[in-house]
Amino acid sequence: MPELLQEGLLGLDYQELSVIAQKHGQPEYRARQLFDALYPQRLAGLDSISTLPKEFRAALKEEGFEIRHPRIEKSFQSVDGTVRYLIAMADGETVETVWMPEGDGGETGDGTEAGDSDWHRATICVSSQVGCAVNCQFCLTAFMGVKRNLSAGEIVGQVIAVLNDRHVDLERQRVNIVFMGMGEPFLNYPQFMKAVRLLVDGVGFPESRMTVSTSGIVPRIHDFGAEPVRPKLAISLNASNDEVRSRIMPINKKWNLEMLMQAARDFPLRNRERITFEYVLLDTVNDSAAHAREVIELLRGIRCKVNLIALNPGPGIQFGTPTEQRVQIFKDLLVKAGIPAFVRRPRGRDIYAACGQLKRTVA
Ligand code: SAH
Ligand code: SF4
Repeated sequence: MPELLQEGLLGLDYQELSVIAQKHGQPEYRARQLFDALYPQRLAGLDSISTLPKEFRAALKEEGFEIRHPRIEKSFQSVDGTVRYLIAMADGETVETVWMPEGDGGETGDGTEAGDSDWHRATICVSSQVGCAVNCQFCLTAFMGVKRNLSAGEIVGQVIAVLNDRHVDLERQRVNIVFMGMGEPFLNYPQFMKAVRLLVDGVGFPESRMTVSTSGIVPRIHDFGAEPVRPKLAISLNASNDEVRSRIMPINKKWNLEMLMQAARDFPLRNRERITFEYVLLDTVNDSAAHAREVIELLRGIRCKVNLIALNPGPGIQFGTPTEQRVQIFKDLLVKAGIPAFVRRPRGRDIYAACGQLKRTVA
């Protein structure tokens, strides 16, 4: 772990804070005060914890410990209410985090800017890495390559920065988290899972309000199934056979559809839980009726639903977006076969905030 991250308190769990308190000869309840300030209260700066003795604060700072939140460098407001945040970490690297309000605020539909207070549900889309190594051919994040993993503190920090910027009261407002921003969460598994635990035990998100999406890192899907506390699982399927999938998602050469679908079948679902399969529709490449029938075969026997996403285009992407009619036909075939299927409407396309568009665009 790089030194600058060690110095931040954000990202430490209760046990780690407890060790620090002990080292300073402080009673156990000081660890609890630190934990409460960091997570449920979302405070920045040790000096804002007025209950903590001055000397202890000073000693912590002496060691380089502080509570630093990632800095919001820029934000871009979409006509649909979506806000894309460019968030800077301590070393200057930036990632993107997206705020998507639902309801009145999020769906003005008439091009007017959505208000801040009139949402009744919102979703935060969080990044897990700076860039991504997986190289899906339809995704702009892939062009960056992967620069580094984010620490648990940086993952939680994105959520806290956005919650504070929107003045969210989690006891009264309903917020979901999706780990669907930049990066492949399952290639940064320990830090991602630590962040999940801090969000659940600390910040106050029920695990049922979180979903993680993976491109199909099969061994980690097995690990994830064994976690006592975990978000819901989404798998980026995106193709109906190995030939197409390997072409658009090179990761399929390492873990092919047979291995992926076996992991999905083995996944221990909870009561009434379903696996979500995401499927980006690329014009004529994976969106024909024959492809839909292959998808139906693949998903047979799995308790799941399918989210269809028509390709969000971008510079350098070699694929086309199917017509709405083609999307509808594909969806209807799945629904007729008994698979719940939904067309995900793009959010914040005008500000490069939609799926696959996160590449730190600054204008
Ligand atoms: N790396 C993980 C998490 C990111 S989720 C994953 O890929 O699953 C991002 C979602 O957006 C994935 O389901 C991906 O397939 C989809 N996506 C990527 N590029 C897209 C694009 N250009 N248009 C629409 N969806 C896209
Ligand atoms: Fe990475 Fe997901 Fe983009 Fe693929 S779709 S390159 S796994 S972020």
